[in-house]
Amino acid sequence: MELACLDLEGVLIPEIWIAFAEKTGIDALKATTRDIPDYDVLMQQRLRLLDEHGYGLPAIQEVIGELDPLEGASEFLDWLRERFQVVILSDTFYEFAMPLMAKLGHPTLLCHKLEVNEEGRITDYLIRQRDPKRQAVRAFQLLNYRVIAAGDSYNDTTMLKQAEAGILFHAPQNVIDEFPQFPAVHTFEDLKAKFLELSNRF
Ligand SMILES: [Mg+2]
Repeated sequence: MELACLDLEGVLIPEIWIAFAEKTGIDALKATTRDIPDYDVLMQQRLRLLDEHGYGLPAIQEVIGELDPLEGASEFLDWLRERFQVVILSDTFYEFAMPLMAKLGHPTLLCHKLEVNEEGRITDYLIRQRDPKRQAVRAFQLLNYRVIAAGDSYNDTTMLKQAEAGILFHAPQNVIDEFPQFPAVHTFEDLKAKFLELSNRF
């Protein structure tokens, strides 16, 4: 039995925080873990900025609803789902991803969750577990699935290592250089070919 695990942001959809910062003009929201390595400090800053600019969850979802999946992503996902069981593993939050998941036909998504009060203000965030992508792959392997995983960045590399086969897709050069054990591809056509090549069923 084979399962395909895909990262979401940078693979199927744009980076949500960056796209949101561009749509709203709140430049400070473009900061990532590269600028502020402590994820908790980064998230607290993001939530404070949203508050300061008066963005509650409904307004955020409205902006995210105007975003589109990356070009070709929807067709690729349909292609993949015809050939593999597909689970998307992401470090985003359900409340942010949902408007875009609708445009991808609501595939299965495992990610994190926000805490929102009655006025729609985001009060906190709940990380499902530590190293969640790798833990998900481990769990699927315990269910006797062979996993082929693809992702674009550092937060995917433990998932790629855990999987029976890992692929870097759309990855920046520094990630490709640091993890030469993973094949790196840049187009959906090449990604399809990699999945077929690494599968033991085709
Ligand atoms: Mg990503």
